[in-house]
Amino acid sequence: MSVSPLRCDACDRECTFDHAGPFPPGQEGSYGVAWQCPSCQRRALDVCSIGPLIPVATTCVNCGGERGAGECPDCGLTEVQVRAVFGIDGAITVERAIADAQRGLLRRALAHCNWLLARAPSTELAWRLKGEICQQLGFHTATARMLLHAAEVANAPVLLFSAALSLQELGRNTEAVAVYRELLAWAPEAPNAPLAWSNLGNALSALGRRDEADRAHARALAREPAHSTIAFNYVHHLQQGERWLESLGILEHALRFATDASTRVAFLFSLSRAHAELENGASALDAADAAVALDEHSIGARFMRGRALCLLGRLHEGMAEMQHVLALDPGNRDAANAVRILERAGVTATMPS
Ligand SMILES: [Zn+2]
Ligand SMILES: [Zn+2]
Repeated sequence: MSVSPLRCDACDRECTFDHAGPFPPGQEGSYGVAWQCPSCQRRALDVCSIGPLIPVATTCVNCGGERGAGECPDCGLTEVQVRAVFGIDGAITVERAIADAQRGLLRRALAHCNWLLARAPSTELAWRLKGEICQQLGFHTATARMLLHAAEVANAPVLLFSAALSLQELGRNTEAVAVYRELLAWAPEAPNAPLAWSNLGNALSALGRRDEADRAHARALAREPAHSTIAFNYVHHLQQGERWLESLGILEHALRFATDASTRVAFLFSLSRAHAELENGASALDAADAAVALDEHSIGARFMRGRALCLLGRLHEGMAEMQHVLALDPGNRDAANAVRILERAGVTATMPS
């Protein structure tokens, strides 16, 4: 049960951690850890229970049941047996649990966190590790419930950030808004406060509360003008509302800070799209050309280049670009549509771009 690495019986070797996920899918009570033999490559799945979410002194660390002295009424293990199974001794630490989790020993890492938290509920780092494990498993209901509790008991407002993220993942945006607002009132200078403003903007935007979303996004960007995710979120919000002209300023600003090629391509794609929507073909083409120069296989950038060429009346070149997109991505509906429209307009010849 992922307390120690699985062994391959055939090769008598210790397996290595491959990945973990909900098992069976679609619930939050148990997960599977996949291990792989480095010799024969055979895989094995180890199914584990998530255990207690909010442990207290009387919680069985193995099954999460309520226990007294003696055997746990739910799983039958005594406390001595539980300690032996999970290797719990006086030297366990969250740091060691983090190292265990990275090696795939999720059950052991969670048991050690639960043991520590049952005795010292204000151990913020242990809550954080539990939250990360649950979130990576996609157990968002569990994560939100656990971290909302943890933030209070550990007096750690930053834990609210992950709780709110999980609420957003669940589509519980009204609650997410309330949690981000609580975090920002409680710890306005927290390191993740700017991103919390930005995520708050996304949640408000999803609820159609656009004016509040505007203010949240603007506040986030004012706090961290060079943060690409914050700029992306703002641009996405504006472009969803077809506010192309307003998005231009944010994009040009963001491009001054973005150095990483894939980030620049994404911003240039949005810039080209905004110019195209404003029927500014030359600027749309400039942005698309710059994106293609950074990544000639970017389907989005090539599509925008085709669209800009068509806007400029360079229909044969536009057709060639759309066909290029379809060669890269045969299921691309936008490109297929464009090709149909161009064919109807009598553009049939394809020319190399
Ligand atoms: Zn093997
Ligand atoms: Zn038990």
